[in-house]
Amino acid sequence: MNRRLSGLRRGLAAKKIDGLLISQPENRHYLSGFDGSAGYLLITTGRAVLATDFRYTEQAGLQAPDYRVLKITGNAADWFPGLLGDAGIKRLGFEAGDITVETYRQLKNALKKKPVAVKLVPVMGLVESLRAVKEPGEIELIRKAAAITDLAFEGVAPTIKAGMTERQVAWELEKCLRENGGQAAAFEIIVAAGPNSARPHARPSERVIREGEPVVIDMGARYGGYASDLTRTICVGAADDTFKKVYATVLDAQMGAIDIIIGGMTGQRADAASREVINRAGYGEAFGHSLGHGVGLAAHEAPRLGPGSKEKLADGMVFTVEPGIYLPGWGGVRIEDTVMMENGRVVTLSKARKVRYD
Ligand code: ZN
Ligand code: ZN
Repeated sequence: MNRRLSGLRRGLAAKKIDGLLISQPENRHYLSGFDGSAGYLLITTGRAVLATDFRYTEQAGLQAPDYRVLKITGNAADWFPGLLGDAGIKRLGFEAGDITVETYRQLKNALKKKPVAVKLVPVMGLVESLRAVKEPGEIELIRKAAAITDLAFEGVAPTIKAGMTERQVAWELEKCLRENGGQAAAFEIIVAAGPNSARPHARPSERVIREGEPVVIDMGARYGGYASDLTRTICVGAADDTFKKVYATVLDAQMGAIDIIIGGMTGQRADAASREVINRAGYGEAFGHSLGHGVGLAAHEAPRLGPGSKEKLADGMVFTVEPGIYLPGWGGVRIEDTVMMENGRVVTLSKARKVRYD
């Protein structure tokens, strides 16, 4: 935990701020160990304070031994001056991607009452970039989350038959995640059949699965606070030529990306390598999302593997590789693994079988 705090403190110096107010839940959890649903951290060179309300003060003391716990009530205007205390902060960073306009207004008002001027400085991505590179203990938790996800998928996939609804399948998968030791589903499971599968984030519906159509299943377990993310596309009954061609193209793009991604490559380069395979097959327009995203305490986090992403892929990063092709009216195919970078190469953590249809 101290390694994380010292990493953050180096970031404060680089951003020329005296302290940072952390409000984003996963960042709060990552830096302090406290996983309650409400609270703020104030981190300066010499201090680490966790401010939370009555519901969580005992838990905070147990989970965040490196922090002084401050009990707060009311809104930010009430407790913010007490949290700053005499820390001598002149430039205070806040998480611009998380603080609401209303909370910002309350912080500003509270500062007006301070005798010494404190400037609020918007900060983006500082903790997220620390979180992107995992420690060995974090990787073990994600590995376990991925293994639970594989077991649940492998357990349910052979039982999927024409006539079942998307929601029935999603529920079987969710039960299986829990029965195999997952603390929860990491996100709402996607089961999308036929034309519904053309929407990358479709919600499971009462639609009945029919023979010969694609069924996209996107799921992940949460374990020890960490997520995993897996997508497989299956065809119940005989696959037609469109399915075979689209599926083979996505599988090529996915496996090709895993082979080609190396340490130091930008997220943009990794995405382009995979996209090229899909472009060549004539489906360029039908791959409308990024190749992948980081996985950790959040199911979607840094780095991003997509157009415009300058983030360099480094050892210890855990991310997804998930190209897809979506044809409105027909359906879609996506194949996704959770992977990690180790010694400059991609190692797949997701092991669920990828069926071949050609
Ligand atoms: Zn996914
Ligand atoms: Zn994903």
